[in-house]
Amino acid sequence: MRKVLLFILLFIIIIFIIPIFLVNRRILTVGADDSAHTKIEELSIEEYDYSKYTKIKLLHKKTGKVEEINLDEYIANVVSAEMPVKFDIEALKAQAIVARTYTIYKITKSKKHKEADICDDSTCCQAWISKEDRLKKWNKDKANKNWNKIIKAVNDTKGKIITYKDKPINAFFHANSGGKTDVPLYVWGGEGYPYLQVVETSGEENYSEYRSEAEFTKKEFEEKIKAKHKDFKIDYKQENCISIKERDDSNRVKTVKIGNLNLSGVEARTILGLRSANFEVQILEDKINFSVIGYGHGVGISQTGADSLAKQGKNYEEIIKHFYKDVEISDM
Ligand SMILES: [Zn+2]
Repeated sequence: MRKVLLFILLFIIIIFIIPIFLVNRRILTVGADDSAHTKIEELSIEEYDYSKYTKIKLLHKKTGKVEEINLDEYIANVVSAEMPVKFDIEALKAQAIVARTYTIYKITKSKKHKEADICDDSTCCQAWISKEDRLKKWNKDKANKNWNKIIKAVNDTKGKIITYKDKPINAFFHANSGGKTDVPLYVWGGEGYPYLQVVETSGEENYSEYRSEAEFTKKEFEEKIKAKHKDFKIDYKQENCISIKERDDSNRVKTVKIGNLNLSGVEARTILGLRSANFEVQILEDKINFSVIGYGHGVGISQTGADSLAKQGKNYEEIIKHFYKDVEISDM
């Protein structure tokens, strides 16, 4: 008899009592959500643990393989791919800090790749070369000494990144500024990087990256523009059929009139494959000639500028603070 009563009690618990608890839990949960509207939890700035980036995932674009690699090993490979090793050690140190900052910024602010933190394609993220391939490209008798110079630049700047108001900056860099860097506004149309200003640097003219020429036959020239602008027309008999309309504060071309088109200097540079948007143009008998000053987009640190400043006695910190305004060099 007692067994039967116990059984009935158990039955009642399973059928009626437990569901009540379950429903109550639901009600309680909904209640908790509702109360969130009245009682707002105070949020605080999240501290970023950069130490978790001692290893990063590097995507090799050609093979599609993702390699997990020690951050500073990766930085050494980037520095050796991005800057000539003959440059002054202080310029190499500046490049190491720039590369490390760029990497951290990419991971935390503008991750482009799902499966990896960064890739080895310079047109997408940052150039990278394996140590093995790098050593092969140097003279045998200098290879080890060169590699040690790169390693020293990375070790001497261990854990250092460039920050603006305690946040890693978007550390743009390019080969040669032509004497003056540019602001992102004129290059990509973006604003919001107060540390990127027009900066003058002496000595950039002493590098082979400073001056270049690009020459096209009229046919080549027209074909390149037509590939982007089908309605393009030009009559060379017309005066000023090619003329520079406006330059920005850094002397780069803002607007150039070519035939019936008005192109930005940046677009003309891209279409024609010029080294920079700071150019003069000349119409010759059957050719179009461009004289170009500088190499690269011109925003942020100039690599030859960094070397030039180092040769004038500046250290890596002074070099970085010359190119990026009101920044600090902080430990990750
Ligand atoms: Zn990439």
